[in-house]
Amino acid sequence: MEESLFSGESSEPPSTGLEHDDPPGNSGNTIVLTVAEDARPSKQFHIPDSSVLNLVRNGRAPAARSHSKPANRKRVTEKVTTSPALPDRNGVRLDTAHSSGPSLRRENLLTSKFRERFYPDASDADWDDWRWQSRHRIKTLEQFERILELSPEERDCLADGGTLLPTAITPYYMSLLDPNDPMQALRKTVVPTTREFVRTAGEADDPLGEDGHSPVPGLVHRYPDRVLLLPLDFCSTYCRYCTRSRVVGHGEIQPNVQRLEAIFHYLEDATQVRDVLISGGDPLALSDEKLDWIIGRLRAIPHIEFIRIGTKMPAVLPQRITPELVSMLRKYHPIWMSVHFLHPEECTVESKQACERLIDAGIPLGSQTVLLKGVNDSVEIMKSLVHKLLTMRVRPYYLYQCDPISGSSHFRTPVAKGLEIVQGLRGFTTGYAVPTFVIDAPGGGGKIPLQPDSIIGRDGDDILLKNFEGKVFRYPDPMAT
Ligand code: SF4
Repeated sequence: MEESLFSGESSEPPSTGLEHDDPPGNSGNTIVLTVAEDARPSKQFHIPDSSVLNLVRNGRAPAARSHSKPANRKRVTEKVTTSPALPDRNGVRLDTAHSSGPSLRRENLLTSKFRERFYPDASDADWDDWRWQSRHRIKTLEQFERILELSPEERDCLADGGTLLPTAITPYYMSLLDPNDPMQALRKTVVPTTREFVRTAGEADDPLGEDGHSPVPGLVHRYPDRVLLLPLDFCSTYCRYCTRSRVVGHGEIQPNVQRLEAIFHYLEDATQVRDVLISGGDPLALSDEKLDWIIGRLRAIPHIEFIRIGTKMPAVLPQRITPELVSMLRKYHPIWMSVHFLHPEECTVESKQACERLIDAGIPLGSQTVLLKGVNDSVEIMKSLVHKLLTMRVRPYYLYQCDPISGSSHFRTPVAKGLEIVQGLRGFTTGYAVPTFVIDAPGGGGKIPLQPDSIIGRDGDDILLKNFEGKVFRYPDPMAT
């Protein structure tokens, strides 16, 4: 039997057994601002978030500090009444709404209310513990029904099972879903429906042909100088449009030492490889120690210059981004990270803090967004998302046309929709906010960027260009004639 990095742990159905992982590493630094009920019976405060932070930074925070919620105390929640251009759910600004304290325990108001209703016994320390979140993921029909008013399509799918991809949602991410609206954007991306059973022309389980470019199990070598390393197939929350739904959550890619050593040996011989993307499954589902070992082994290979990590943790389980994790990662610079945000409602105060931790540790963050019908397929929503990402210091990097995986037709938009969105951003907002729209070519052709036409022709020595307003300009280009 192969030695496992999760030795002694059981698997998700069949899993990596994250539920049985090591004790949490992030419980020692949070300070919770609490107010005794008897002292402040009004319980709600209308304090701008920045004021709370400044109070703390100036050393004038209230004295009450705790790592858990004492029985006679209430969390302080803040109601923010400002109206952004595109309101978040129920008009609550998830990026600023919140409460308590310094180092900075921050929680958006929707999540606070959700906790009070569905997890009243969970302390702040529990809630902030990524392993607690993983253990309490919502996976079964019975668990879903306790929280959401399910549509017939959702209920039938959960009752039937049989989708390519397992279902699981962290309590944190569930707190962002609308319990009454199956058409809410975030809900569509994580709650399965019977539409996943529909297969249409052109779809495939492995549309990118990754399996055909895999010299070692769990390694995809498609481009000459870079590889994709899959350490595991576990994710804390499963996205219904996942490109790797054929493997993710199936328990077939385990982070065992023998398989990973085979990958390292391949890379030691592949001297043309300078860039390794660790993705998955979500690599940050591994413990710090296991991730440390994997990255350390890669760093010991002299020709590997550059390591990237692909993760959705800042959006679905921001509690995973602990001070301990980032201090481990910063040992291995240059480390870059591709984070996966889809919609402005994912940009909560918690996800912002997670991103800030990574960036403050010198890890540049680029966001990869999949264009999804009925989720983010409008200029207005995409503009709101990219603006929020910039304020979180995350660079919008790629906007992906949804891959034609089996059962994805309800998510896919015409390619023209992506071009329309890029057209609606380019010139109308900060250049940094405009992602590159790409199609990952079916069959392993790699990413192909698509742009609205900007060169419309030539007139003698001049090239004719169209700007974002549709006006035509000339640029002298005699060398080309
Ligand atoms: S986090 Fe990434 S790998 Fe995991 S289900 Fe979502 S898209 Fe797939």
